[in-house]
Amino acid sequence: MTTHREPLDSVLDTVGETPLVRVQASPDEVPVYAKLESFNPGASIKDRIGRYMLEAMLDDGTLPEGGTVVEPTAGNTGIGFAVAAGQLDVDAVFVVPERFSVEKQQLMRALGAEVINTPTADGMGGAIDRAHQLAEELDDAVVPQQFSNPLNVEAHYETTGPEVYEALGDRVGAVVAGCGTAGTLMGMAQYAREQHPDTYVAAVEPEGSLYRTLVGRDVEEGEYKTEGIGTHEPATNELFDPELVDDVLSFSDRDIHTEMQRLAREEGQLVASSAAANSLAAREVARRAVDGEIELPGDAVVTVFADSSERYLSKGVYGDFEAWQG
Ligand code: PMP
Repeated sequence: MTTHREPLDSVLDTVGETPLVRVQASPDEVPVYAKLESFNPGASIKDRIGRYMLEAMLDDGTLPEGGTVVEPTAGNTGIGFAVAAGQLDVDAVFVVPERFSVEKQQLMRALGAEVINTPTADGMGGAIDRAHQLAEELDDAVVPQQFSNPLNVEAHYETTGPEVYEALGDRVGAVVAGCGTAGTLMGMAQYAREQHPDTYVAAVEPEGSLYRTLVGRDVEEGEYKTEGIGTHEPATNELFDPELVDDVLSFSDRDIHTEMQRLAREEGQLVASSAAANSLAAREVARRAVDGEIELPGDAVVTVFADSSERYLSKGVYGDFEAWQG
């Protein structure tokens, strides 16, 4: 699938239609395919919601023309919104917990956005509260609320999901994705289940995250270095629908780190930790299918590689595990 060869008017026209590439380490009988989301203009999967949500909110008047978006974000969403906001004449303010990568915050500023940090100890909940406070203080300001806005899911239902089917058709047997807001997985899963009601759906999180508690598992909460996926607070998992999910797979930071190195060295894939977690999970789903533990309605397992490792080089993603700062 190669697109975007025609001359385009705006960088927003390059959002989506990302390549779908086989994970070489997956079994021949049940191959894993990953959408390479760093091919988006802001270099992550969040460009999809940036464009989709802002256009939808401008269309229905939720966001006044020339208004301001104020969004709590770990970073990629900020970049995605900032790319779209700049082209759609909207101002952007982002509230980012301190622990997230400085590269992302620099890019948001370069795109013309304002960045406000909140203490790491206050978690994403602290950033969400601060964003709402700021929006009240500003004229014509709206909080898109990626963590609870159904437009986040819709963006993937309308773009990521259909793109996968354009490439693979009824070969799609399973959809696997790490959950931050869960927008990616929910949108892809809804679309996939409409194509085939038995499509296997697996969520992915690092050990220490609490998505498994939402499917009735007992989980020990903890810290992790993997960036962009996982949940600790109800305010960050409102979009997750356990009814749509067959399993939630979790991996240790150490295994994720090892997979991140392997993907670069063996597969030429410069992808970040959430992509490595997705790769491990999708390969595990493929293994289960090969071993007859689960039955898939098609032979292919689909996942996403949400962003590139380049965004995290300063955190030592390619150094020793102990030195990796999540
Ligand atoms: N990977 C990375 C690197 C991300 O930034 C995010 C978004 N937080 C995700 C995965 C998860 O995507 P979603 O919010 O759609 O669940």
